[in-house]
Amino acid sequence: MLAIRELPIEAITIYPSNSFDGIEILFRANNHTFQFLIGNSKNHFPINVKHVFKEKAICPFCQKKILAVPLGQQLCLEFQKNLPALLQYFQEEYPDAF
Ligand SMILES: [Zn+2]
Repeated sequence: MLAIRELPIEAITIYPSNSFDGIEILFRANNHTFQFLIGNSKNHFPINVKHVFKEKAICPFCQKKILAVPLGQQLCLEFQKNLPALLQYFQEEYPDAF
């Protein structure tokens, strides 16, 4: 399990999704960008976390090789295991966005 609280996670933008009822968060961790999808604008639940890398790199969390193309932006399986903790982190750190 990742210790979410001990990671240097920083939200870039938190915004209502254009494509579903929920919230999208772009955040940085270890110099890489990730996208976190959260369902339901009233009673939030975490959906998934994808890599949004700008250049080819090994993800420091799940160790996958990530390509800098839309098809290469798979789910980050390590963040997937920690979705509730990640949601709680953003709700506590950025309460105004929820
Ligand atoms: Zn990953």
